[in-house]
Amino acid sequence: MNLKAIFLFILIFGMQQLYSQENYKTISKVDSTKTYQGGPKYEVPTFTQQFKSKKPKNVIMMIGDGMGVSQIFAGLTANGGHLFLDNFKQIGFSKTQSSNNYITDSAAGGTALSSGQKTYNGAIGVNADSIPIQTILEMAEEKGLATGLVSTSAITHATPASYIAHQKSRASYEQIAADFMKTDIDVFIGGGYKHFSQRADKRDLILELQQKGYQVLRDMDEIAKVKSGKLAGLIADEHNDVAGKRKMSLPHSTETALNILGQNQKGFFIMVEGSQIDWGGHENNTIYLVKEMLDFDQAIGKALEFAAKDGETLIVVTADHETGGFSLNGGDMKTGMVKGAFTTGEHTAVMVPVFSYGPGAENFTGIMENTDIPKKIIDLLGF
Ligand code: MG
Ligand code: ZN
Repeated sequence: MNLKAIFLFILIFGMQQLYSQENYKTISKVDSTKTYQGGPKYEVPTFTQQFKSKKPKNVIMMIGDGMGVSQIFAGLTANGGHLFLDNFKQIGFSKTQSSNNYITDSAAGGTALSSGQKTYNGAIGVNADSIPIQTILEMAEEKGLATGLVSTSAITHATPASYIAHQKSRASYEQIAADFMKTDIDVFIGGGYKHFSQRADKRDLILELQQKGYQVLRDMDEIAKVKSGKLAGLIADEHNDVAGKRKMSLPHSTETALNILGQNQKGFFIMVEGSQIDWGGHENNTIYLVKEMLDFDQAIGKALEFAAKDGETLIVVTADHETGGFSLNGGDMKTGMVKGAFTTGEHTAVMVPVFSYGPGAENFTGIMENTDIPKKIIDLLGF
């Protein structure tokens, strides 16, 4: 290279640097979904830390799909500095890697949390060799506990499906719905009506549910009125809408389910999922994510109300994985404004928090595998 060429190179390179700096300074990327401007806030009461027993009779497992520490802190900021999660004094971290991938999907993550076994991405209640494995919900049923599933997605979607179905692929929605019929689950509330009613095999699972004694309801107000008996709440045809727009209420569904299941003398096991925190992350949409986070936290509030009064209920709140590589580049505890930033539209590999409250909660601290969580619950229940 001669001197002239070097000079030209420096000139072009320098101009480019100058241009990109200017570019950075003058072009502000306006993307309204990245900043949550603040919104309605709710009061967070303090719940007792005194419990009747050393071991739980009832277990409420709550999964915030895609809920990492940043998602929680975004919700905390949006609600003016407090969440119902503040009442959880025992905190740990869960490693979410699946059997075949550093980054898990919700099927392998759900199956790890339901069965205590690592499996491949996409697997629903089957192990790495595609062999069906018993879930904690099925064990609970076998031991005479009442069981439930509540989700803001279709009830046939990966997370709830992992607790009740056994399929090689999470995409087998109709087969997953059919797997519900093989159990005696007491209460399930979510979306996914069409996987029970419009099926390739022409089976009418709605009728079959009614024949098995379920009250099959599609209206949230009617669902909230149910006080006893078997309940199948299938609100949306597929997934329920986003928080604030959906006909389904996660807090009310949680409360309804707990009041029904709480009548069983032998206790109960329920999994409650805030499904769409994950979808806010996939969309890189801070507003969506924050609204879903606050909705899930209010469902946690309903669980706390029940557990504090009951004194024999363990609540474990965790996530299957983090979504979006979400972080906070700004915020305001007073207004609730949160300025989010994302590194990806996919899931990430980072540890996710584990919060526990109630008898046995002290067992869920430190760094653990996601598979340790159901194993510890099973030990505490004495299965
Ligand atoms: Mg999910
Ligand atoms: Zn996801």
